[in-house]
Amino acid sequence: MNTQSAAPYSADVIIIGSGAGGAAAAYALAKRGLRVLILEKGPELPRDGSTLDINRVVHEGEFLSRERWMGSRGERLMPEEHFNLGGKTKWYGAALLRFSPSEFDAELPYGARGWPIRHAEIEPYYAEAESMLGVKQHPCEKDLDRILNRLSRTTPAWVSAPLPLALSQNIVDNRIEATHFDGFASVSGLKGDAEVSFLATLRHMPNVEIRCDAEVTTLLPAVSARGTIDGVRLKNGDILRAQAIVLAAGALHSPRLVSRYIAASNPLLPAATNVGRNLKLHLLTALVALSPGRKTDLLRKTMLTVNEQFPHSSLQPLGFDGELIGTLIPKFIPRFIARQIGARAYGFFLQTEDGSANENRVLEITNPKSGEVTPVLDYDENRTPRASVEHRRFVRAFQLSLLKMGMPSFGQRIGLNGTAHVCGTLSAGDDSRDSVVDSRGAVFDVNGLYVADGSILPRISRVNPSLSIYAWGLRVGTLLGQQLLKPAPQFLREASVGMGV
Ligand SMILES: Cc1cc2nc3c(=O)[nH]c(=O)nc-3n(C[C@H](O)[C@H](O)[C@H](O)COP(=O)(O)OP(=O)(O)OC[C@H]3O[C@@H](n4cnc5c(N)ncnc54)[C@H](O)[C@@H]3O)c2cc1C
Repeated sequence: MNTQSAAPYSADVIIIGSGAGGAAAAYALAKRGLRVLILEKGPELPRDGSTLDINRVVHEGEFLSRERWMGSRGERLMPEEHFNLGGKTKWYGAALLRFSPSEFDAELPYGARGWPIRHAEIEPYYAEAESMLGVKQHPCEKDLDRILNRLSRTTPAWVSAPLPLALSQNIVDNRIEATHFDGFASVSGLKGDAEVSFLATLRHMPNVEIRCDAEVTTLLPAVSARGTIDGVRLKNGDILRAQAIVLAAGALHSPRLVSRYIAASNPLLPAATNVGRNLKLHLLTALVALSPGRKTDLLRKTMLTVNEQFPHSSLQPLGFDGELIGTLIPKFIPRFIARQIGARAYGFFLQTEDGSANENRVLEITNPKSGEVTPVLDYDENRTPRASVEHRRFVRAFQLSLLKMGMPSFGQRIGLNGTAHVCGTLSAGDDSRDSVVDSRGAVFDVNGLYVADGSILPRISRVNPSLSIYAWGLRVGTLLGQQLLKPAPQFLREASVGMGV
């Protein structure tokens, strides 16, 4: 190991954030014997059942972030973010899909940027992440099977396949967990997530420390070397230093830390103009399809459906039972009727890849009088017009096909608060003129700073992003680990001996 990793450092590597990217990078580094310190802003979630309670989770939003944001027109926003150990993965619906090889290429007319690596370079990390998370297919249940068969008979262009899920085979024996995994946090560890599948292994390792309630506010430049970051300041004022800092605070938060560093210490950073830009979050619609018969499927979210007339879009059932679907039914309908409708309905989640637009971004503005800092989410889907048109047509085509089968439906566009899939704000690329990090996750022209979370995604693809974030995190951790474990150059080793280190 590099002999420089000794005295002033709290660890070899500090990781900021414990979600998909952070946990995966930590795992890859720690298993190579490096000393890893994970700093997580939020607490560990309770295991008392409250994270499965529909009132506390859905109606009261008890586990959501309370951070106040502003939209581009000055409107108030409160993005649906989660600050807790394991990040948003504790709440995700566990649909873990690989992006297809062609989704690593640029598609410029659509506004989609290419990755700086090929699919083959991330493939081993996809496989490792799937194995760690226990990704598997679950049988298509009775009601869904009937709906999808009728759908493909009515409109053969709709093609369905099993959805890879990070759910234990035993989850169906636990009715509460089986009907509350999409948007809820498992109490029994029946869902593979960043905490259960990565951090649980790490917390028993002597070279790993995980600190919760440890919000990083500032990235600190090294005292002795210009253009190097080697430390962080926490909200409580503590300063911690390491050989390398891995940012994994999530795509709404990591770029704000980089922007603060640039403003304070490195305003001429070549990649500065790209920080926070190219934000993507998928164009999303939740749709409720109605039919006369009661629906009894448990998991529901077991199949993925595509239609190649809409090559950037896909749909999957919501993992919502009747009671939860009732919450999507417009409020003017009396609740007892909503419950009856919910019991007969099936929910679907339709997503379309949004391209990259430079103007879609996160930033922070400071009130010159009060000094108060407000984060801004400046996003307009009209800046990615092809995606916007495809999404509307995709939703309409699906609704029409459902109607032909005798299933009327209503859809609800997910607004800007719905940041579940947000990514792309520190985009990876080949060149600091249009990207922020290189193919290894290192921030261009800054020594010691790496990005492992969804911020790096150059393309979001037609499917859910988490598996690609885990895979990227594993790759960043692996490559950084190899770099840190390289023996120090001869002259440094001689100097160390001379200094008695
Ligand atoms: C309800 C829901 C359902 C979803 N379903 C799916 C799905 O089925 N499939 C899928 O692929 N994806 C799904 N997602 C999306 C998925 O959860 C995210 O894409 C993924 O978790 C993002 O990983 P990340 O590492 O970028 O960020 P996160 O998982 O958000 O992790 C970031 C972490 O950093 C911490 N943090 C933030 N700021 C700081 C700071 N300053 N200091 C220290 N720590 C900080 C946060 O508290 C958090 O723990 C879903 C999301 C939600 C909310």
